[in-house]
Amino acid sequence: MKLLSIIVPCYNEEEVLPLFYDEIRKVMAQMQETYPELCFELLFIDDGSKDKTLEILRSMSLADKQVRYISFSRNFGKEAGMYAGLENSKGDFVVVMDADLQHPPAFLPQMYSYVRSGEYDCATTRRVSRKGESKLRSFFARTFYKLMNKISQTEIVDGAQDFRFMTRQMVDAILQMHEYNRFSKGIFSWVGFKTRYIEYENVERPAGTSSWSFWGLFRYSLEGIFAFSTAPLSFAVLVGVLICLISLVLLILFVVKAVIVPDADLRFLAALCILSLLSGLQLFSIGILGQYLSKTYMESKHRPIYLTRETEKTYRSRQGEGQ
Ligand code: UDP
Ligand code: MG
Repeated sequence: MKLLSIIVPCYNEEEVLPLFYDEIRKVMAQMQETYPELCFELLFIDDGSKDKTLEILRSMSLADKQVRYISFSRNFGKEAGMYAGLENSKGDFVVVMDADLQHPPAFLPQMYSYVRSGEYDCATTRRVSRKGESKLRSFFARTFYKLMNKISQTEIVDGAQDFRFMTRQMVDAILQMHEYNRFSKGIFSWVGFKTRYIEYENVERPAGTSSWSFWGLFRYSLEGIFAFSTAPLSFAVLVGVLICLISLVLLILFVVKAVIVPDADLRFLAALCILSLLSGLQLFSIGILGQYLSKTYMESKHRPIYLTRETEKTYRSRQGEGQ
């Protein structure tokens, strides 16, 4: 038997939870028929909801033995919810999905078929359109992805989502990323493994409202930049070098003027030259400090040095399973 854990972070989702439950139950029954080897657990994470989410989860868990839940002491954010779900899931396969049906459960059988074959370790969806989103928001999102992919070694795919179907192996890899400031889009990509993207059109929420404000998203994107790039710390080096170059130009100007015009007043030029040289050097030194800081910062995350996908042992045992 193979256990599939379905992790659902919920924050104030009383309106959609019953809809989600009906929908996911249908898909689970359908999958059970096609794949008799599967059994399920539904793990809801109540992220300190202020509405009736917890009451709904309580009664669901009483009525349905496959339903588990973890309720946080306050709102810790979706990232914390996903981490708690991954840490507490027991499945051989794990899927993380939103409660608001924007991650359609109907994709699950297809996702399972990709991962089951062993060819892929992860199946996920990618939005190809941003329908139903304001122009300004789309513009900022696009700019963020462009910038992020320029300044970070970790590839962040535009339109990729947190709707992920993963093997236990990949989940264990993600759990090895202990960092407190979590940016899942980066983490999923950082751990590597073979990912299959399924493209689809954006779906709107059937009920309830998105808990992301524009500024919330903006802060989250900064989080992504600071968690996966140290480019901002190199900024001072760049400006410092630039200002030093300017002071060099001024110095040349100073010498040329002194030679060509013997009794010229050079005091202003000299002051400018010294000023720019000193401030350039200062910024440059701050930049060097920044470089050491960036190394220390990355070390402090204690990320794994490498992650294995396959060895001859796992390969042999998989071959054995296939026969
Ligand atoms: N969520 C959460 N904690 C939060 C905010 C959101 O667990 O602090 C959950 C929410 O219940 C939903 C998912 O994260 O299942 C995505 O949230 P939302 O639909 O508000 O985001 P959007 O789809 O607009 O990105
Ligand atoms: Mg949503």
